[in-house]
Amino acid sequence: MQESARRGRLVPAMKRAQLRSSLAETRAKIRAAGLRSTAPRVAVLQCLQKTSTPVSHADLFTELADQGFDRATIYRNLIDLTEAGLLSRTDVGDHVWRFELRREGQRGLQSEHPHFMCTDCGEVSCLRGVNVRISSAPGVPRALSAKNVEVQLKGLCDRCAA
Ligand SMILES: [Zn+2]
Ligand SMILES: [Zn+2]
Repeated sequence: MQESARRGRLVPAMKRAQLRSSLAETRAKIRAAGLRSTAPRVAVLQCLQKTSTPVSHADLFTELADQGFDRATIYRNLIDLTEAGLLSRTDVGDHVWRFELRREGQRGLQSEHPHFMCTDCGEVSCLRGVNVRISSAPGVPRALSAKNVEVQLKGLCDRCAA
């Protein structure tokens, strides 16, 4: 009886603490990567924490428009966060960098999972957990065996194929 009453008080308190700590965690993450925690860096990182697909500079600018950052500030901070190892970037073949959170332990600045781009609507999605195996053959670039390549798949997304 006493035990359940105690639990009832604790759980909501923990949830509130988690909400409050997400900003503190974002700041701590930026500092741990060796950068100063600034308003645009926190805004960019928090925005990318909410999305599950890679986001372009233009998308981020639109998303953060009401916070008053200019395009150059957002771009510079995207590059800073990428170089500090917090973000990875990918170019799915349209010469536009798209950024997403970098997983812990990921090597290099490139994405560790393949991406799928719809040839009709242009939507890009992350294929997390998908493994593409390429068998080695004589004469393939060394980057292939070093796994220093990005895999991009194209086709129709479910919506466009329907
Ligand atoms: Zn589509
Ligand atoms: Zn991705």
